[in-house]
Amino acid sequence: MDLGERIFALAEEIFPICRSITGDGVRETLRCLKRYIDLQVREVPTGTKVFDWTVPKEWNIRDAFVKNTQGERIIDIGSSNLHVLNYSTPIHGEMPLSDLKPHLFTLPEQPDLIPYRTSYYREAWGFCLSHNQLLQLPEGTYEVCIDSSLEDGHLTYGEFLCPGASEDEILLTAHVCHPSLANDNCSGLATLTYLARHLSAKNTRYTYRFLFAPGTIGAITWLARNEHKVGHIKHGLVVSCVGDGGGPTYKKSRRGDAPIDRAFCHVLRRIATTPNILDFSPYGYDERQFCSPGFDLPVGLFQRSQFGRFQEYHTSADDLAFIRPQHLASSYRMIAAVLHMLERDYRPVSANPKCEPQLGRRGLYEPVGGQTHTPDYTMALLWVANLADGRHSLLDMAERADLPFDLIVEVAQALRTKGLLTECGGRIING
Ligand code: ZN
Repeated sequence: MDLGERIFALAEEIFPICRSITGDGVRETLRCLKRYIDLQVREVPTGTKVFDWTVPKEWNIRDAFVKNTQGERIIDIGSSNLHVLNYSTPIHGEMPLSDLKPHLFTLPEQPDLIPYRTSYYREAWGFCLSHNQLLQLPEGTYEVCIDSSLEDGHLTYGEFLCPGASEDEILLTAHVCHPSLANDNCSGLATLTYLARHLSAKNTRYTYRFLFAPGTIGAITWLARNEHKVGHIKHGLVVSCVGDGGGPTYKKSRRGDAPIDRAFCHVLRRIATTPNILDFSPYGYDERQFCSPGFDLPVGLFQRSQFGRFQEYHTSADDLAFIRPQHLASSYRMIAAVLHMLERDYRPVSANPKCEPQLGRRGLYEPVGGQTHTPDYTMALLWVANLADGRHSLLDMAERADLPFDLIVEVAQALRTKGLLTECGGRIING
């Protein structure tokens, strides 16, 4: 299997699990991911104060259905876990259609699809179904059963730390709270798991922290418990909806000019013809928490189609047919390209800052072997030699010169080999 097929297979494996912001669905999902990476699973008790929030009661569900007078399950969680309003309180009884209707949720605009609805912080029960099915329900008495529990328990999240040479961290996170929705976010969980496994076998400069937590309350809980660690986070990324063919979309951090923002813009503008680059807004995924003013971390959001902007979003149409192995693989490569860029970025200092170094004497203008350098290569040499004042990173230079980062790296290495550059705060390489 190629990379895309393997990521897809993992997404497919976790797709049927009925997840929520707490409960056994999250635990079972994390157990699946743990087969690939040495995930640490954390349990935080109900009632724990986390900034302005409180860890809620734990929700678990065993069964949910509506039966007609013939005893047939006309709505059944067994056919789709989207059928139950997520976090529904338990109920069992009989009622006429008129009493049931206020608890039924549909999408009149998309009458064939089942919506995904939640009621985390207001106790309620309900069912989601297609609008067409609702229109066909005859009057009569229905048996309604939601065999759920909402009790003191835990909020569960998973964390994987992949140590690098430096304590400086790159945080990568995906939400683990949605039930059977493939793009949102089986795609993100599977993609980051494969990325984590890949990085754990590499010698990296950065330490990588992977966080798989329920949306909003999970990120808030993690931040509340790890406030002392956030100073290590130099770059961060929220990953969701990365299995469809749209976008790519990158939403910048609140800072707007963090290195991860600029690295993503650089990579996506070179890979995609029309990348969707968005400024920060306080609506979206967990970047809202990481970019809240008390933290203001350099954390962006990567997606393919932008959330809320695709027809399948938060409906039963966000199924396994909506995500494709080749899109998962290309999303993986886009993120990996940005991480590879951050790994190689540094601020060089010229060892010869007074006037231009004599490049020709060192063979940098005319390489041995007869081939000539491209004009871009020569311009890159001149830019790097000029901007190597310890204040500009290689990424700054790539942007200012409007040249590919890889070329800037190659040229900087050539200058280092000739003893013309040092790393800011570092030593001359081969000098
Ligand atoms: Zn969502």
